[in-house]
Order: sequence, then structure tokens, then C-alpha cells
Amino acid sequence: MDKKNLLMRLPKVDEILSSETIIETIKRFPRSTIVEVVRNRIDEIRKAILSLKDEELKNFDLNEDKLIQDIIEDIEKKGNMSLRKVINATGVVLHTNLGRALISEEIVKDIVDVACNYSTLEFDVSTGKRGSRYSHVEEIICKLTGAESALVVNNNAAAVLLVLNTMAKNKEVIVSRGQLVEIGGSFRVPEVMMQSGAILKEVGATNKTHVYDYENNINENTAAILKVHTSNYKILGFCREVDIEEMVELGKKYDIPVIEDIGSGTFIDFSKYGITYEPTVLESVARGADIVTFSGDKLLGGPQAGIIVGRKKYIERMKKNQLTRALRVDKMTLTALEGTLRLYLDEKKVIEKIPTLKMLTMDSDRIKEKAEKLLSKITEVAKTVEALLIEGYSQVGGGSMPIEKLPTYLISLNKEGLSTKKMEEFLRGFTIPIICRINEDRLLLDVRTIEEDEFDNIVTAIKQLETGGKHE
Ligand SMILES: *Cc1c(COP(=O)(O)O)cnc(C)c1O
Repeated sequence: MDKKNLLMRLPKVDEILSSETIIETIKRFPRSTIVEVVRNRIDEIRKAILSLKDEELKNFDLNEDKLIQDIIEDIEKKGNMSLRKVINATGVVLHTNLGRALISEEIVKDIVDVACNYSTLEFDVSTGKRGSRYSHVEEIICKLTGAESALVVNNNAAAVLLVLNTMAKNKEVIVSRGQLVEIGGSFRVPEVMMQSGAILKEVGATNKTHVYDYENNINENTAAILKVHTSNYKILGFCREVDIEEMVELGKKYDIPVIEDIGSGTFIDFSKYGITYEPTVLESVARGADIVTFSGDKLLGGPQAGIIVGRKKYIERMKKNQLTRALRVDKMTLTALEGTLRLYLDEKKVIEKIPTLKMLTMDSDRIKEKAEKLLSKITEVAKTVEALLIEGYSQVGGGSMPIEKLPTYLISLNKEGLSTKKMEEFLRGFTIPIICRINEDRLLLDVRTIEEDEFDNIVTAIKQLETGGKHE
């Protein structure tokens, strides 16, 4: 057969769309997506035919069934939302790339209610007049942190930017050299400082900074002293940081405000749960920091947000800053934040209700129980995939508690004749992508971050892996 004949035998778009096997798929996706996918696949074959050498022509097999299967797979892929659920089997609780903190199921209804209906966002129902979007969370933040006043913006990077811009534009801010941190590439203290218009006055050495280092650098142009919590690394050994009380004392002496960026901003003393102590927001405020900033979606376990708490006179100035409008949070974030904060009012229940807290404080016996349950479900279906229960460690993630190792249980998967890399790719390509860990050429599922209602998805994926590693 020659090329011309082969090309003429190529199916037409309409022929493919009228095939029995594709009808169900067509119903579920927009026509434009389907036509685009079909055209692309046919084009691909046309190009393949045109590039064939003469001697290859007779062996060319146009397998129409396979073509339709490929098309269905493409449509399913294209039809999926780009931003969608995955299963986090990495054990990294605050996984920055997988969305950091998870919102509590308890408050989903409130978020949907506000998102899909008109709301009290900037309306005061008691007076019938205009209200402020920030009022919904201010009182509860003050109650939980002991602060006089509070303001919420888009994230903690924005919070730091706004604070510095309001407090220290064209003025100096003193920071220890040991605290000029970089948080995930796009946030570096010196750069944020520059963007804010404040002038960085770095003092001390990388490993040691003393009170006199700050004091010797105070002048008539000093607007603030800044302490940055080195959340994502630790300096150990011959080192010294000035603590917040000492800074506050110095600030009082010279009438200079002290700002603390504590990053993770927990409301809970984690040392009660056998995890490394992290400074709580309540403590920073109680120790006299004039302004404290922290994230909503790190250890707090809420939505992405930056929370600023502190003295009323400073927060009032920030509320009037033009930047605040550009950094403002939307109604879904505010609802999720208010809902999350309300859960903290019941200290006993909050650990169970906020997924981040639940996963971080889950003891290894409970993880073992969960892991055994998943293991038995896997071994029920697995014949060629070998699954083993092993001990290991999970990480906190999100640049929080960098050296914390949380004891956990993992399921290690192995399949004769299939590389770990291929297996990882297969699970990652599953309908609900399963994101695993690879360690010393072993594929690992850390059960700490897997919910029980996700077990069946994992089992289905492994079943398909058994049958030759092709997605159904
Ligand atoms: C994480 C972090 C930030 C940035 O917070 P985002 O909410 O990610 O913008 C800033 N400062 C410190 C100390 C942090 O740990």
C-alpha cells in the first residue's frame, strides 16, 4: 500500500466520535476538548505515515481500537482540573508543593455558603451600614493571641512587607546577620526589606549577635528592631541570639518598636505532644513584641494568609496604608480563617479537628494501626507487588521545625521487573495522583499523611499496577 492510500484510510473526526466505545466519554466533557484531542491524535498518525520509509509501509498497522483508547485517555487527562486533589504519601505534613495546610472538614460548609451566596463581607447587619471585611476575624485573633489589634493579609510575606513599609519606609531597621533568612526562594529578608522601602541595618555575626550590637547601631533614623524566626534552619554550637525580652527592653529604652516575624505562628505548645517547642504567638505578644507576623497555613493549619497582630496604634496605620488594599484577602480565605480560629476556642478538640495538628501529633501506635490496615488491604489484592511495613520518620515541612523527625510507619512497595522510578511514575499518573517517597531505591508510602478514606484509591492503583502497569 502506498502513503496516499494509507492517508485515505485514516478515520475522520466524525467517524471516531460515532464509535460505541467513546460515547460515554463524550457525554462528560466539552465538545471543543474532544474535537481538539481527536484532531491531534489523527494529525500525529498522519505525520507518522508521511515520515515512513517505503520498506516500512507494508508493516504499518493502523489500529483503530488503540487509537480510540488513546483518545479516551487524552480526553480524561485534558478534562481533569489542573489544580486538583492528590494523595500525599510523602509524610511531609506541611508539603509546600502539595498545598501546605489542609482546611478542616468541619468548616467546609461555611466556606461554600459564603462563596456561593451573598454575605456579610463588608456589611454590618446590625446597623445596615457598610462594614469592614477585617472585623470578622480581628476579635477572635486578639482573644487567642492576647494582642490589642490584628490585621490579615494575603500571606506572611505580604504581612512582613506591609509592616516594614508602614513602620520604616526610608528608615533603618536593625536585624541580626544570623536572621537574614530565605524562605523558599521568593522570600528573602533583605529583598523584602528593600521592596518595602526600609533600609536594612544588619548587625552582629552569623552565629552570634549581642544586645550591644543592636544598641550600638541605633540612631535618629532607626524605625524598628526586627527579629526573624529562623524557621527553616537551626544554628547549633557556638551561637547566641538576643531574645525577645531583651529586644523589647532595648526598644523601650529608645522608644523604638520591636517587630517579630515568627513565620509558623503556632497557637499550641507542641512540646506537650513530644514535639520540639516552637514559640507561640501568645508568648511573643506576652513578652512584649510590638508587632508579630505569622502565616495562616503553616502550623496554624488554616488557609493561606498572613496575620499581623500588635499594638493598636501601629495596626491602625497599616489599615490605612494603600498597600493593604493590594494585599487584601478574599471572602473564602476569611471564612476559612474565621472557621479555623473558632476551632481553637476548644483546646481539647482542636488537635482532632485541624488536619495539620492531627497529623503532626499522631502517635506512632496509631499510625501503625492505620498502616497495618492499609497493608492488609494491599496484600489482599497484590500478587506480584510485594508490600512490607517498615519504620521511618516523617517531616513537618513548610519550612517549620526543620530538624524534627516524627517516628512513623511506611509501606514499602516492590515489584519484580518494574523499577522503583517506573512504579513512582505510575502511581503519580493515577486518576487521583499518589505522591510517594523514594528512599534508597525503595518506594515508600508514609501513612501519617494518608487519610483512611484514601486507602481504596491506593489499593485500586496497586491492583492496576499488578495487571501490567497500565492505567484503566
Ligand atoms: C514561611 C515564612 C515566611 C513566609 O510566609 P508565607 O506565608 O509563606 O508568605 C516569612 N517569614 C518566616 C520566618 C517564615 O517562616
